[in-house]
Amino acid sequence: MGTKGNEIVGVDVKKLLRLLNKAYADEWLAYYQYWVGAKLVKGPMRGAVARELEEHASDELKHAGMLTARIMQLGGKLLIAPQDWYKNTNCGYDAPSDPKISILLKQNIKGERCAISVYKKLAEFVKDKDIITYNMVLGILEDEVEHEDDLENILEDIKGMGR
Ligand code: FE
Ligand code: FE
Ligand code: MG
Repeated sequence: MGTKGNEIVGVDVKKLLRLLNKAYADEWLAYYQYWVGAKLVKGPMRGAVARELEEHASDELKHAGMLTARIMQLGGKLLIAPQDWYKNTNCGYDAPSDPKISILLKQNIKGERCAISVYKKLAEFVKDKDIITYNMVLGILEDEVEHEDDLENILEDIKGMGR
C-alpha cells in the first residue's frame, strides 16, 4: 500500500475495510442474482428484461472490481471464499426460485434499495475524510440509483400491459 496515500485517510482503516468487504460480498451476490435471473426469467418482454438484468450483472461485477482495488490499496484482506460473502453481506441473496418477471424484478428492486442505503452510509462515513473512497462510492451509488429506477420502470411497463 502507498504510505502517503494511506496517511491521508482520516477514518479508522480497519472499520473502513470491514465496510468495504461487506459491500464486496453484496456485489458478488448481486452479480450472481442478476446473472442467474437473466437465464431464468419468463414472461412478457423476457428478452429485453434479460438484457437489462445482464447489464446490471456486469455493473455489479465492475463494482466488485472497484472495491477490490480500494481494499488492496488500503492493505486489506479480500473475502475470497463465497461462504464468507454469505456471512458478511448486508443485502443478502434472493434466489430467483420463481422466474416470473414481476417477482424477479421485485426481488432485485429490494436488493437495489438495500445497496443504495449501504452506499449512502459508506459515503457519509468517509465524506471529507477519505476522498478517494468517497469518490468511488459516489460512482457506485449513482449506478445503484439508476438500477433501481430502471427496474421500477420495467415493472410499471409490465403492469401497464395488464399482467
Ligand atoms: Fe453494485
Ligand atoms: Fe445495482
Ligand atoms: Mg440499467
